[in-house]
Amino acid sequence: MNDFYLAPGSPMDDSDYIVTATALSGKVRALAIRSTKLVQEALRIHKTSPVATAALGRFLTGTLFLADTLKGEGDSLTANIRSDGPLQGMTAVADSHGNVRGYCLEPVVETTYHRPGKLNVGAAVGSGKLTVVKDFGLKEPYVGQVELVSGEIAEDFTYYLASSEQTPSIVSLGVGIDSEGVTCAGGFMVQLLPGADEETISYLENRVSGGFPDVTFLLTEGMNPEKILDMFLGDKDICFLDGRKVAYKCNCSRERMERNLMAIGKKDLTELSEDPKGIDLECHFCDQRYHFSQEDVKALITEE
Ligand SMILES: [Zn+2]
Repeated sequence: MNDFYLAPGSPMDDSDYIVTATALSGKVRALAIRSTKLVQEALRIHKTSPVATAALGRFLTGTLFLADTLKGEGDSLTANIRSDGPLQGMTAVADSHGNVRGYCLEPVVETTYHRPGKLNVGAAVGSGKLTVVKDFGLKEPYVGQVELVSGEIAEDFTYYLASSEQTPSIVSLGVGIDSEGVTCAGGFMVQLLPGADEETISYLENRVSGGFPDVTFLLTEGMNPEKILDMFLGDKDICFLDGRKVAYKCNCSRERMERNLMAIGKKDLTELSEDPKGIDLECHFCDQRYHFSQEDVKALITEE
């Protein structure tokens, strides 16, 4: 796979990364991600069943696309789906350094197929809402919400971008799964920049409707994110800006868990402190357990 062009900053090894580019005479912004390892990590942590792995993998990858515009050190983007399918919903959080973490509300659900080999993610997700919160530290957070279009995730992100951020976009996401686990994961996103003309729009529409292969197929063939954008856009003057690593990373800590405990209020905390066994808290994102002894809990009450 290293036979393909690598943008400045793209890793030489098989690490996950995101690459950004502009193309078609500066009329589009394009991004592509290889997220195989981070989806494997999500599967390892959450022990998701195949259709849940595909849904969560697409969701984590799509969230990284949305978070690519974050600039500030402490900025974060949270994407939430709450839906009526067996999965019930998913949460993903990405920061401005390419780290993402997430979980499904119901990680083990029955796997159904559109056709042999094609997981029916939409049926597992069902109908509901996608909410995106961009948190810029002290400034007011930006909140956008849309109804899910199909629950297939890529279409839902596309609709969100068009209606909530007024950015016409093409989003393609894919997770390859076999009996051993995740074989590949990734996606690409192409966005029209202000001033894009009808010609550019119809060119891109034709690329989409012209039977461009699934991103999982391209990744399985060993293509890297640069090559996928190159093929999709078909523009020899494509300008790659940079490549950056992305990863599954949780930022939980004992201090953070203490703050969560203190946030429940003195009355509830006092009730919890009556248990001589103390309490165990588990992080949703990485399953790390934190034990607080009865003494620890009592100490938090006086600290408050
Ligand atoms: Zn954690």
